[in-house]
Amino acid sequence: MRIAILALQGAFEEHRQTLLKLGVESFLVRNLADYQREKDGMIIPGGESTTILKLLKDLSIFEPLKKDIEQGLPVFGTCAGLIMLDDKHLGTMNITVKRNAYGRQLGSFFFEGDFDGINGKIPMTFIRAPFIEKCGDGVKILSTVNGNIVAAQQGRQLVTAFHPELNDDLRVHEYFLKMC
Ligand code: GLN
Repeated sequence: MRIAILALQGAFEEHRQTLLKLGVESFLVRNLADYQREKDGMIIPGGESTTILKLLKDLSIFEPLKKDIEQGLPVFGTCAGLIMLDDKHLGTMNITVKRNAYGRQLGSFFFEGDFDGINGKIPMTFIRAPFIEKCGDGVKILSTVNGNIVAAQQGRQLVTAFHPELNDDLRVHEYFLKMC
């Protein structure tokens, strides 16, 4: 199995380290040629969604990525990566997202919460985090924190508002790898 990690901006290196710990091969995507390499799944990391969106378009990755996800490429978006899959960006998930949902300061906090399909508490690091305001058809809610949706799945698309790559716990990545 080989996983592509979008590496235009943000926390891509931490995802690479997590996959390394799991013994899974990965490569970084910095341009269209990288993107076009064979892959079994794709990770879109956290960072700044406006920057990632602009670079995806400038590098002509936006359209092929959208098409591949629509045709079943497994994808895991964390934080800004979650925003990238919503109805205002790639539009491949039926979710409406509120950016910087807790305010600029309060958006950074730590929580240990439940995650559907994983036993025991999951450490959740939130950094200027979004949450999902509305889910449409086909979206399964996997986790809520204080009533806000922070993880969801639609087919082979997985999103978390928090950053599992910033904690030592590998279970959310394992959950994604099972989808690939
Ligand atoms: N606040 C960022 C945005 O709106 C997301 C932050 C993150 O990815 N940690 O794009």
